[in-house]
Amino acid sequence: MKKLTNTPDEQGKFGQYGGSFLSPELQREIDKVNDCYQRIKNDAEFIAELKYIRKYYQGRPTPITFARNLSAKYGGAAIYLKREDLNHTGAHKLNHCMGEALLAKKMGKKKLIAETGAGQHGVALATAAAYFGMECEIHMGEVDVKKESPNVARMKVLGAKIVVVHEGAKTLKEAVDSAFAAYVKEADTALYAIGSVVGPHPFPVMVRDFQSIVGREAREQFMEISDGRLPDHVVACVGGGSNAMGIFHGFLGDENVQLYGVEPLGRLKTADKNIVGEHAASVAFGKKGILHGFESLLLTDGNGDPAPVYSIASGLDYPSVGPEHALLHEIGRVNYIGANDDEAVAAFYELSKLEGIIPALESAHAVAAATRMAANLPGQTILVNLSGRGDKDMDFVMSLK
Ligand SMILES: *Cc1c(COP(=O)(O)O)cnc(C)c1O
Repeated sequence: MKKLTNTPDEQGKFGQYGGSFLSPELQREIDKVNDCYQRIKNDAEFIAELKYIRKYYQGRPTPITFARNLSAKYGGAAIYLKREDLNHTGAHKLNHCMGEALLAKKMGKKKLIAETGAGQHGVALATAAAYFGMECEIHMGEVDVKKESPNVARMKVLGAKIVVVHEGAKTLKEAVDSAFAAYVKEADTALYAIGSVVGPHPFPVMVRDFQSIVGREAREQFMEISDGRLPDHVVACVGGGSNAMGIFHGFLGDENVQLYGVEPLGRLKTADKNIVGEHAASVAFGKKGILHGFESLLLTDGNGDPAPVYSIASGLDYPSVGPEHALLHEIGRVNYIGANDDEAVAAFYELSKLEGIIPALESAHAVAAATRMAANLPGQTILVNLSGRGDKDMDFVMSLK
């Protein structure tokens, strides 16, 4: 394992990945965001405000739950869950949305613009906008609008304006393009608030910093319930990679803690063979490339264009991945593995029936990987980041029957 530096360089490079690839006009705006973030991130007042919000609005810290019945079923490792499903709005995304909105407020902005896939980022950002009294405009692919109607309703109730995107595959990738275009026109008064550890510098590091609360809490809580021991394995699902970066950051320095990022294999049976359009496993099958203003591992089609992607979990279907993940993969610090649709749906039911916790289909990928590993790891512990709750997926899962 090569030595790890856990911050990017001044250009926002994580090794050979990351950086910023934008038009000059957009770069000027993003530079302002970066300047402000670098200035404010260690500011005592900013930190205190965020801490207050986390405790009294979001309901943090979220607990760790021992999944007693699930662990007993597999008869090997003890499985624990970090309960981001209990964070306000039902997923980890509010962790970075409140940070981004607070930054926007400090920059004197009046409006937040973003894309959303499953609708979780849109709901979280609309929530943050309501809290801070800001306008909110959410770009969402037509396919996702249909699939995630409860979240669309929530965003509307929260006062956000929804822009439905009809281009291309009509999912997350096209929504990002559309949100970027809208932001360029209104950058004076709006802030673009990306929904994961992706996009141009400083977003990958900024979103990771805001999400690292998950790992900091988890590390302390796990030691508290395990006589000072750390988990042997930490597992999280990876779409853009924000919930995974959040929990991994608590353990990157602990060499004995094995880290696993679980990518969506979609309709593939195994991770051996790439069939374009059937999955969204960017680390497993991606090559170095640029999309949405940053360089990372990118899934491409036969022509070298961003590939169509698919997962049963809308929040995971993105054809690239955060640059820090690409680096962590390259140096071998994190193992990237996969779970397919069928495994995720099975885990969705299993966790619901055995533990009374309905997971998001995204999080169910991590649960599936953990249960697969558990039988071969007697006496060991696995900590799963349960990134969100599955209420939003109920109608869709029932329609599969
Ligand atoms: C959006 C989402 C994800 C995927 O995003 P990451 O940036 O990879 O964390 C995972 N789980 C839930 C519940 C989500 O809403």
